[in-house]
Amino acid sequence: MGREISRKSNPGCQNLALYSGKNFRKAAKTFCLLASKFKQAIDRPGTKRDKNPGRIQDKFETGPVLRLIFWQDKKMAFGNEAVVIGGGAAGLNAALTLADMGIGVCLLEKEELLGGHAGRYACKATDACVSCGACSISRMAQKVTQEKLIRVLVGHRAVEAKQDNGGFAIRAEDAKGREEGLLAKSLILASGFTPFDPSGMALGYGRFANVITNYELEIILRRENNILRPSNNEPAQSIAFIQCIGSRDAKLGHLWCSQVCCPSSLRMARLGLAKNPQRKINFFHIDLQNCPKQIKQADDKNLNLIRAIPADARLGGEGKIVLAWMDPNSGLLQEEAFDLVVLSVGITPSQETRFLLSGLMGADNLPEIFGAASGSVHTAIPGLFMAGCARGPMSIADSIADAALAAWEAKKFMESKK
Ligand SMILES: Cc1cc2nc3c(=O)[nH]c(=O)nc-3n(C[C@H](O)[C@H](O)[C@H](O)COP(=O)(O)OP(=O)(O)OC[C@H]3O[C@@H](n4cnc5c(N)ncnc54)[C@H](O)[C@@H]3O)c2cc1C
Ligand code: SF4
Ligand code: SF4
Repeated sequence: MGREISRKSNPGCQNLALYSGKNFRKAAKTFCLLASKFKQAIDRPGTKRDKNPGRIQDKFETGPVLRLIFWQDKKMAFGNEAVVIGGGAAGLNAALTLADMGIGVCLLEKEELLGGHAGRYACKATDACVSCGACSISRMAQKVTQEKLIRVLVGHRAVEAKQDNGGFAIRAEDAKGREEGLLAKSLILASGFTPFDPSGMALGYGRFANVITNYELEIILRRENNILRPSNNEPAQSIAFIQCIGSRDAKLGHLWCSQVCCPSSLRMARLGLAKNPQRKINFFHIDLQNCPKQIKQADDKNLNLIRAIPADARLGGEGKIVLAWMDPNSGLLQEEAFDLVVLSVGITPSQETRFLLSGLMGADNLPEIFGAASGSVHTAIPGLFMAGCARGPMSIADSIADAALAAWEAKKFMESKK
């Protein structure tokens, strides 16, 4: 059953009476009696016990009653205002900005939890905050669920979007294939990105347990609060980060820089050293992009910034990974074994975004996402906007800013139609 979280009625909702005034309080009171039983039914393992502060778990304390009420209009079309597809950094802020401007909005998220990719990242603070941006997600997710003008549908994937009578008709499905039809004057596509899949590359991902991606390391750090080897769950003592995996690669046709993997991997490397200063970390890169001065400085003797990218990996003793690379200073081949290798995979376009766009624009008229032409939140369709990594690689902060701009443009568009 898809989870629906909302606090009160939305002006765009045609079933206003059910939620407002006396009816709302009466219904809430009735369902409160059932709350404990109902809570058991909806709090599934993995969400209830999720230690991740601020994600959807936070609102489970008061959520069941309200969700039960809102189930009753699940089949009802939601009209008049905006729909945002995607509940990541961009989608959350698009919905919040629209609501701040008094616009009723329905936020669709296919996963059970809000937050998108960044909702799974670890805090990288060492002795001080290093401005990774991860904690902004939980704050926004919490605000979204408290905002009266936002109706949130989690566990609902947008499977089709079409132009309809000067606006948009969106079809969403929950895990059981039950459908929800939504109508909107304006649509913001904030459906995010897909991390590059390095399976099949020569660097051993998928073949060797101790070769992981930076995305997987985020999750390990968040869960274990340290850099552990998947093979034995012991802290890794020697670690190699390899940058630009799946980005800046002409052979793949991925010419873009993913913008975020240098700063985020360097922050994880520094956190690893803060937890264990005896660790040795090699950071293989082409050049370091978007790294603030404080994280770029290689002032730690155990953090070696090496301008080279190892071409392949083989398995050594005790699950170690042996990497070979050309030393940039001597020109000689170097070889070394590491407890753990972290591939910094880049941001690639989401197939889901392409699919939704092809329904809106026709498969032959797809805009260039992740290319030079994707430099704006506008699209060729009036009223349709794109925000965040759905249209190109960007950081959490940039996705948030982008979404605010898309929301402003959506508001301007809706006003022009009045
Ligand atoms: C390994 C890694 C580490 C990173 N570390 C940092 C960092 O430290 N700091 C930083 O600033 N940035 C970092 N980034 C970048 C950061 O992840 C992005 O800036 C941010 O996630 C973009 O948010 P978004 O909302 O655009 O996309 P996403 O996070 O991808 O969110 C999109 C959302 O849309 C939903 N969705 C997709 N399709 C549908 C559909 N059809 N229907 C309904 N919902 C749908 C998805 O489930 C998802 O929740 C990192 C990226 C990577 C890969
Ligand atoms: S911005 Fe990042 S490092 Fe700073 S407190 Fe938030 S999660 Fe931690
Ligand atoms: S941010 Fe760094 S690792 Fe990522 S693609 Fe750009 S240069 Fe490569």
